[in-house]
Amino acid sequence: MAKVYYNGDVNDQVLAGKKVAVIGYGSQGHAHALNLKESGADVVVGVRKGKSFDKAVEDGHNVYTVAEAAEQADVIMVLLPDEQQQKVYDAEIKQHLTSGKALVFAHGFNVHFHQIVPPSDVDVFLVAPKGPGHLVRRTYEEGAGVPALFAIYQDVTGKAKDLALAYAKAIGSARAGVLETSFKEETETDLFGEQAVLCGGLTSLVKSGFETLVEAGYQPELAYFECLHELKLIVDLMYEGGLEGMRYSISDTAQWGDFVSGPRVVDAKVKESMKAVLEDIQSGKFAKDWIVENQVNRPQFNAINQRENEHQIEKVGRELRDMMPFVKPKKKEAVSAGA
Ligand code: NAD
Ligand code: MG
Ligand code: MG
Ligand code: MG
Ligand code: MG
Ligand code: MG
Repeated sequence: MAKVYYNGDVNDQVLAGKKVAVIGYGSQGHAHALNLKESGADVVVGVRKGKSFDKAVEDGHNVYTVAEAAEQADVIMVLLPDEQQQKVYDAEIKQHLTSGKALVFAHGFNVHFHQIVPPSDVDVFLVAPKGPGHLVRRTYEEGAGVPALFAIYQDVTGKAKDLALAYAKAIGSARAGVLETSFKEETETDLFGEQAVLCGGLTSLVKSGFETLVEAGYQPELAYFECLHELKLIVDLMYEGGLEGMRYSISDTAQWGDFVSGPRVVDAKVKESMKAVLEDIQSGKFAKDWIVENQVNRPQFNAINQRENEHQIEKVGRELRDMMPFVKPKKKEAVSAGA
C-alpha cells in the first residue's frame, strides 16, 4: 500500500513565518488562497488586473501584480492556466526566485515538459488537489477536503517535503489523504484521466448515448435526462461506495444490463485507443500539439468549442436546467473549466 498522509502526520511549523504568494485567482487560485488564509497562513495574491484581481480584493486578500507578489513571498504557488505559465514565469516570476525560495505547482505540465526550467537553488514541488477548485473550497468550508498528490522535484532546503505536506494540510487536503508521486507520474496520469475518463471519455460516452436514442426516434428531453442528468446520481453512489455500492442501489435488471452490455460498449478496441492516448501523453506529442495550438491562438480549440456548445444535447439541456434552478451551481463565478 502507498503511504497516505493525514493531518496528524504533518508538521505545520515549516509554514509559520513564511509568506505564500498564490499566483492566479481562478478555479484553484481562489480556493487555495482562501483556505490557506483561514488555516492561518500569511497569504498574498498575485494576478493581472481584471475580473480575478477584483474578485481577490473583494474576498479580502492583499492583491498585487504577479511580480510584486513573487518578490515578497517565500513560497510561490503558480495557479495560472498551464498554457500561460511559461510566459508569466519568464516575465514576472523568474527574477524573484532567489535562493532558498520555493516554487510550487498544482500540475506538473510545465516542469515535466521542460517549458519552465527552475534555477537549481530553489525548492520545487507540486501539490495537486484531485478535484476542481470550487470543490477544494466548498469541502474545506464543510470541514472536509479534496485528496491531493504531492511531488518533490528539487529539495535544496531539506524541507521541501515538510513544506509540501504543510501546504496540503492548509488547503484542507490532508483531511482527505495526501499521496506522494513524481512530476512525471502526476502529469501523465492527470492528463490521461481527464482525456480518457473524466472529461473526454465521459462527454463522448454521454453524447453517443444521447445521439443513439434521438436518432432512433426517442424524445431528446428524455434522452437528456437518461444519459446526462441521471449520471450524477450514479456517480454519487460510486463516489460513496465504489462500483459495488452503486450496483447495490440499482435494480438487478440494471446490474445485469451493466454486466452484459457495458463491455460491449467499452470494448477491447476502446482500451486499445486509451493506450494510444496514453502513448501520446508519454511521448510528449499531446503537450507539443497543445503548446503549438496556443502559439497560433487556438483555431481548433475555438472551432471545436463552438461546435460542441451548439450540440443538441446542450440546447435541450439549457432549457431543461432553466426549469430546475436547484441544479444551478451555487457560486457560478467560482466555477471555471479545467480538471
Ligand atoms: P483558471 O483558468 O481557473 O485561473 C487562472 C488564473 O490566472 C485566473 O485568475 C487568471 O486571471 C489568471 N491569469 C491568466 N493569465 C494571466 C497572466 N498572463 N497574468 C496574470 N494572471 C493571469 O486556472 P485553473 O483551472 O485554476 O488552473 C491553475 C492550475 O491548477 C493549472 O496548473 C491546472 O492544471 C491546475 N489544476 C487545476 C484544477 C482545476 O480544478 N481547474 C485541478 C487540479 C489542478
Ligand atoms: Mg433507469
Ligand atoms: Mg441492486
Ligand atoms: Mg481553467
Ligand atoms: Mg486532474
Ligand atoms: Mg488536469
